[in-house]
Amino acid sequence: MLLLKDIDEPGLNTLPVYEARGGYAALRKALEMTPADVLSELEASGLRGRGGAGFQMGKKVSFLPQGSMDKYLVCNADESEPGTFKDRELMQKNPHLLIEGIVIASYAAGADRSFIYIRGEYVLQADVLDAALAQAREAGYVGEQILGSDHSLSLVVHRGAGAYICGEETGLLDSLEGKRGNPRLKPPFPANQGLYQGPTLINNVETLSTVPAIMTMGAKQYAELGVQTSTGTKLVSISGHVQRPGNYEIELGIPAREIIYGLAGGPPVGSEIKCWFPGGSSAPVLTPDDLDVPYDFDSLAKAGSMLGSGAIIVVDDSTPIVELALKVAMFYRHESCGKCTPCREGTNWTVKMLQRIDSGEATPMDLDIMASVQDHIIGNCLCVLGDAMAMPIGSMIAKFRDEFEAHIEAARARAGLTLGSVPADEQALLAHGTS
Ligand code: SF4
Repeated sequence: MLLLKDIDEPGLNTLPVYEARGGYAALRKALEMTPADVLSELEASGLRGRGGAGFQMGKKVSFLPQGSMDKYLVCNADESEPGTFKDRELMQKNPHLLIEGIVIASYAAGADRSFIYIRGEYVLQADVLDAALAQAREAGYVGEQILGSDHSLSLVVHRGAGAYICGEETGLLDSLEGKRGNPRLKPPFPANQGLYQGPTLINNVETLSTVPAIMTMGAKQYAELGVQTSTGTKLVSISGHVQRPGNYEIELGIPAREIIYGLAGGPPVGSEIKCWFPGGSSAPVLTPDDLDVPYDFDSLAKAGSMLGSGAIIVVDDSTPIVELALKVAMFYRHESCGKCTPCREGTNWTVKMLQRIDSGEATPMDLDIMASVQDHIIGNCLCVLGDAMAMPIGSMIAKFRDEFEAHIEAARARAGLTLGSVPADEQALLAHGTS
């Protein structure tokens, strides 16, 4: 284990205990190297972003322009994808690991100003970070001429106000600048024009917390962990219908079954898994047939889903699929910023159609319309929030169509309607449209 190694050590959030466990040795080592050499290590490690997109961290750093100018590093600690709670544990129990990672990454990127943008609900974690930061400043790990080097870095913990969209990197930047958290059109990308229009490196808490381990063990050894295109270890948050929910650190590439059954104990006795989200609620659902898929970026993509934030949500066979879909759709409808039409209208209409299904007002044709709405959202939005609803809902319709149809029929019967009472014109459409 790299990230959760000492996580339950009493007092790890304080500087003396962190230093006694070897803390800040990686920073000392990095400062003895050139920034270019530190960047080479990050690139050679193959570390991919742990926030959702999975973009290679070293590459991201290398995209920042060279030369002397104000450059920023922003740590995305907004962790708001449903099912994800790993960054919370890291920040609460091991805040210095994140601070150390930020200082090393800022050295490689040539950034001298940094922020931790933490979601507003994480009050305790923000307080812990503030206290740790004060200690780190006092000890010379943050501030002017860090440990006597030429590298200086200011670091501010900035508390958000609780909006899912502020976890999207450009929405986060707007929020950090004091504006409403609205996603920006890309390009330009933050590496060129980010915070206050300056070059900005944005990385997630887990990604930055992994940097000290890479410096300590060396990129080569780190890259031997995991599989070729998904190196290292990963924190997974497991929730839902499992016996031992929680955060676990796994080597990337192990079968998902080992995580869900081996670590989390599988579903409660007497129930079976109906489906599971491998990477938070925005990931297309997988079924028990997919449990032997290796848990890594590319294998999950090949299986039709994604690793996302590493949040596995397990759903057992006691959960009606319509209820699940409605919960997911309502969440994203609520969090849509409303800036673009497919997301604003699509999330709203998806909720309405699911409610029609549940109340007995729908026919199987509504399923086709709903599937088509999801298809029209995917790839047509300004940011990923629209897709974040459309992908799981689309996958549920595709994989559980029989259950949706049975639900429609049962709900219509309860409402005193049968499919025979469908108007003639709609029946004609049904005959063509649903085949
Ligand atoms: Fe806003 Fe949704 Fe468009 Fe993103 S996809 S910009 S959240 S309306």
